Amino acid sequence: MMNEAVLDPIALPSPLPVRELMPWAIFGGLIMLLAIYFVGAEEGATSLVPGMYVHEFVHDGRHLLGFPCH
Ligand SMILES: [Zn+2]
Repeated sequence: MMNEAVLDPIALPSPLPVRELMPWAIFGGLIMLLAIYFVGAEEGATSLVPGMYVHEFVHDGRHLLGFPCH
């Protein structure tokens, strides 16, 4: 009885419905776009936060991703 439960499980993976997944995918995409903005464009004319705090915080990320910096 125990071996049958281990060797022949009845729990099968169920497919993810796109209708339930899509809002989370859109939310994640927006978060990623916001992160890319802060890493890549939060500087100079496109800056939303005054000062260099955001730039200095994400400075290594800018160099890692190849954004022009200095
Ligand atoms: Zn730099």
